[in-house]
Amino acid sequence: MTLLQPRFRYRALCRFSVVVLTVALAAPWAFAVAGLSTESVQTLIFMREEEKLARDVYLTLSEVWEQPVFANIARSEQEHMDAMLAMLDRYGLPDPATTVVGVFNNSDLQSLYDDLIRRGQKSVTEALFAGAAIEEMDILDLQQALADERLPVDLRQSYENLLAASGNHLRAFVRNIENQGLVYEAQFMTNEQLTAVLSMPTQRPGSNSSQIGRGGNGGRWR
Ligand code: ZN
Ligand code: ZN
Repeated sequence: MTLLQPRFRYRALCRFSVVVLTVALAAPWAFAVAGLSTESVQTLIFMREEEKLARDVYLTLSEVWEQPVFANIARSEQEHMDAMLAMLDRYGLPDPATTVVGVFNNSDLQSLYDDLIRRGQKSVTEALFAGAAIEEMDILDLQQALADERLPVDLRQSYENLLAASGNHLRAFVRNIENQGLVYEAQFMTNEQLTAVLSMPTQRPGSNSSQIGRGGNGGRWR
């Protein structure tokens, strides 16, 4: 008994360390969580940091350029981060997001952040294009996540809310770009995908109804 107990403790400690290390490295989770496939777990963890990427880029660029669109959408991205954290909590998953703006556990998101900030600091036009690029990526990633038919209803609703908001955000950035007399062309989407998003009216969060006519560049898009 006295021999077993320390060994058990040691094993438990090892297991704990492995879990902590896995989280620290943002490595794929090797075990399934109740009701979630391994793929869904990885996607959810990634989404939390992808929303942080959007928030952090917009926060940083809002300090560089006097365009209200960045601060407005950064607030919305904070809500998306919160929504993803609530889902992580619900499924007992660890939070990969650091509390530091511009610092990421996922190395792909880290280099993406660095690239986007470099680009966004060149000019306000480049900053707006960087914002639109983020929203295109978000939409494509969310559409891919939603294509999983086994996705639980709570995650599905959450991703759909984010998808609707990302469409609003993309339209806002494109409107700002067009206001500068420029033409926006798809950066990651196909032209058909972009046209489909741009032709949709502004979506209100958490409802299927749409709201048209929230024009201008300073409004709030959730
Ligand atoms: Zn978002
Ligand atoms: Zn967004």
